[in-house]
Amino acid sequence: MGRLVVVSNRVGPLKDTGRAGGLAVGLVDALTKTGGIWFGWSGDVSDEGTFGPFKKQKSRSVQMIQVDMTQADYDLFYAGYANRTLWPVMHYRLDLAVFDRRYEQGYRYVNERLASRLRPLIEPDDTIWVHDYHFLTMAASLRNMGIKNPLAFFMHIPFPAPEILAALPNAASIVRAMMAYDLLGFQTERDADNFRRFAVEEIGAADLGDGKIRYGNHETIVRAYPIGIDADAFARFAISPEARRHMARLEKLLGGRQQMIGVDRIDYSKGLPERFRAYERLLEDYPENRGQLSMMQIAPPSRAELDAYIDIRRELDEMTGHVNGRFADIDWTPIRFLTKSFPRKVLSGIYRVSRIGLVTPLRDGMNLVAKEYIAAQRAEDPGVLVLSRFAGAASEMKEAVIVNPHSAEEVAAGIQSAITMPLDERRDRWQAMFDRLCQNDAIAWSNAIMADVRTVKPN
Ligand code: UDP
Repeated sequence: MGRLVVVSNRVGPLKDTGRAGGLAVGLVDALTKTGGIWFGWSGDVSDEGTFGPFKKQKSRSVQMIQVDMTQADYDLFYAGYANRTLWPVMHYRLDLAVFDRRYEQGYRYVNERLASRLRPLIEPDDTIWVHDYHFLTMAASLRNMGIKNPLAFFMHIPFPAPEILAALPNAASIVRAMMAYDLLGFQTERDADNFRRFAVEEIGAADLGDGKIRYGNHETIVRAYPIGIDADAFARFAISPEARRHMARLEKLLGGRQQMIGVDRIDYSKGLPERFRAYERLLEDYPENRGQLSMMQIAPPSRAELDAYIDIRRELDEMTGHVNGRFADIDWTPIRFLTKSFPRKVLSGIYRVSRIGLVTPLRDGMNLVAKEYIAAQRAEDPGVLVLSRFAGAASEMKEAVIVNPHSAEEVAAGIQSAITMPLDERRDRWQAMFDRLCQNDAIAWSNAIMADVRTVKPN
C-alpha cells in the first residue's frame, strides 16, 4: 500500500490537543497508517504567495507541507469564491451569494497553482485525498498535469439540490471538473444524491447504479460517508479533571436548575437568531420554564471580516438584551451569550451538565457538536438532543428530538418535550445514538473512504 497525500485548505494539527475536531483525528489515523504528506495553505499571505518556499514540519512518517498565498489569492480564492460564493450557495443561501467572475478565475487559478506545487511531491503509488469546497477543481488540474494516481474528495459541507446549484454561474463546468476525481464523498445520502442528479441532468453523466456515475470514459464513485467523531475519547474528555472543574463552576451557578447549551461559530447557516426567538417563544408559551431553564450560547466569531457575520453578532446581542430584560429575575438570567471559544475538554464538561443540547442550524453538512453533546452525557442520566432536520447529523441521529429550525413554535415544543422526557426514554434514545457514534467513528469514516478509493481502476 502506497502513501496517503492529504490536501486541505488548512493543515494539521497532527496531535489532538483538545482543539482538533473529528476531521483531524480521522485524517491523522489514515496518514500514520501509511505515512504520507498533508499539504495546504500556511494561513499566511506573502508577496511570493504560492511561488514561495514550502513551510515544512515532520512528525514521524507524516510530513506537513504548507505554502503561502498572495493577497490577491486570498481576496479572490478564499474570501471571495470560497466564502462569498460557494459557502452561501452550498448552504442554500442564494440571497447572500456574490457572483463575480474574478472570484471564480482566482479560485481556479489557486487550485491550479497548488496542484502544480503538489505535483512533484507525488509518487506513483500514492493515493491522494482532497478536502472540501476550496478544491473542487483540483483533480482536473492534477489530471491535466499527468497525474494518474487515485484521487478521492470529501465534501464537508452540504451539496445543494440541483435547482439551487444551477444558479451558480458555470456550475456545469465546476461539476465536470469534479468528475475528474475517482471518488466523491458526501456527508449524507441526500448530498450524494443531489450531486448525482446534477451530474446526470445537467452534464449528461450516466448513472451506473451502486453509487457510481460515468462521465466520458471516466467512472466516479459518488457515495455518502458521514463523518464521525472519536466518541470514546470525547466521552473520556467529559470525565477529565479540566471538564470536572468547569462542571462544578456551572453546577454552582445553576443551583439545581436546568440549562440548554448551544455551541456554534457565528454563521448565518447556524440559525442563531431563529434559535433565540424559539427560546423566547418557549418562555411565552410554556411559562413554567421561567426561572427554571436557561440557555447558554457559546458562539466564537468566524470570518469576522464579512459584513453578514457582523450583522448576526449585533442582532444576537440585541436579542439577548431583549429576552433578558423581559424575563430575567434577580437570581436568574435566561440567556448567557459568550462570544469566545473554548477547548473541547471544557466544552465536554459544559455539555455534560446541560440537560438539553440545542443544535438547530438552518443547513449544516454534519454538525459535530450534536455528536459531541451525545458522547459527553452521563449514561445513567443523559440529556436530550434537540436537532434540526437540516443538519447532516439528523440522518444518523433519529432518536434526537428532530425539529424544523424555522418554526419557533416547533422548536419551543421540541424543547418542552425534551425537558419533560422521562428518564427511561432519555436513556433509551441516548444509548441508541451513543452506540452508533462509537461504531461510526472518525476512524471508521476514513477507513471506508480509503477502502473504496483503493478499489478504483488505474487512470
Ligand atoms: N469547537 C471548539 N471550541 C468552541 C466551539 C466549537 O473546539 O468554542 C469545536 C466543536 O467542539 C466542534 C467544532 O468546533 O468539534 C465545530 O464543528 P461543527 O461541525 O459543529 O461546525 P462547523 O464549525 O464545522 O460548521
